[in-house]
Amino acid sequence: MSELVLDAPFYLPAGDEVELFRAAYEERIPVLLKGPTGCGKTRFVEYMAWQLAHELVTVSCHDDMTAADLVGRYLLAADGTTWLDGPLTQAVRTGAMCYLDEVVEARKDTTVILHSLTDYRRTLPIERLGVSLTAHRDFLLVVSYNPGYQASAKDLKPSTRQRFMAIEFDYPVAEQEATIIAHEAGVDSATAESLAFLGDRLRNLDEADLIDGPSTRLLIYVGALIRKGVPPQRACDVALVQAISDDAEIQEAVRKVASAVF
Ligand code: ADP
Repeated sequence: MSELVLDAPFYLPAGDEVELFRAAYEERIPVLLKGPTGCGKTRFVEYMAWQLAHELVTVSCHDDMTAADLVGRYLLAADGTTWLDGPLTQAVRTGAMCYLDEVVEARKDTTVILHSLTDYRRTLPIERLGVSLTAHRDFLLVVSYNPGYQASAKDLKPSTRQRFMAIEFDYPVAEQEATIIAHEAGVDSATAESLAFLGDRLRNLDEADLIDGPSTRLLIYVGALIRKGVPPQRACDVALVQAISDDAEIQEAVRKVASAVF
C-alpha cells in the first residue's frame, strides 16, 4: 500500500512551500494543506515524498470512512480471526509519510484518532488491540482540506486544526498555470496560455461564488482533448462547462467566456 515515488513528479512551486515542507518534515510537524480541489496539493505531496526519498501512503477520505478503515480491523479467516493493519497504522509502524486527502470528509471518529499522533505523544491508539502504538521516528502526517467547498458544511475543528502547520494553496497565477497545462496536457504554449487565461476569467466571473473552480486539473483535461483533435469549443463544453455546474444559467455564462477565448 505504501510506495516509494521513484520518478521525479513534475511540480512547479508557487512560493516557499517546498522549503516549508522540508522544515516541517525535519521537525516532524504535521502538515495541513489548505486549498481548492485540483490545485496541486496531491502532486505537491508526491513531489515532496520523492524529494525526501520517503515512502508515501495516500488515503482519499470519504464520508463513509471510519477510524477502522484507517487503523485496521480483525478479519475472519478459516482458523479464526487475523488482524489487518489499516493504511495509517502501516505508515505509523514503518515510518512512511501518510497523506489523508480531504480529511474532513471522513467521519468524526477518524479525526479524533489523529490527536495523540499529532502532538508530543506521537502515538496511535488501537482500541481493538488494546495498544497505543508509538510512531516510527520518520513518520509524518499530512492532511488536506478544502475550506471553501460549496457543497459541504464540513469544517475542521479548532482542536484538530491547531495540531498542524498549514500551507495555503490556490490556483497558480496564469503564467505558471500555462506552464503546468503545457507540460501536463502536452499542448503548445499558445493553447496552454489561452486555457490559463480562460481559467483566470472563470474564477473571476460574477457567478464565481456559485461554483468551485475551474481547477487546474479541468483545464489540463480540456488541453488533453484539444491535443487529441477535439475542437476547442467542444472540449471546453464537455470538460469544463459540464463539470463546473448543472445549472443551465451558470453553464451558459461559462460557455460564453469559453467561446470568447477560443
Ligand atoms: P488537489 O490534490 O489539490 O486536488 P492535484 O494535485 O491532483 O490537486 O492537481 C491536479 C493536477 O493539476 C495534477 O495532477 C497536476 O497535473 C496539475 N498541477 C496542479 N498544480 C501543479 C503544480 N504546481 N505543478 C505541477 N502540476 C500541477
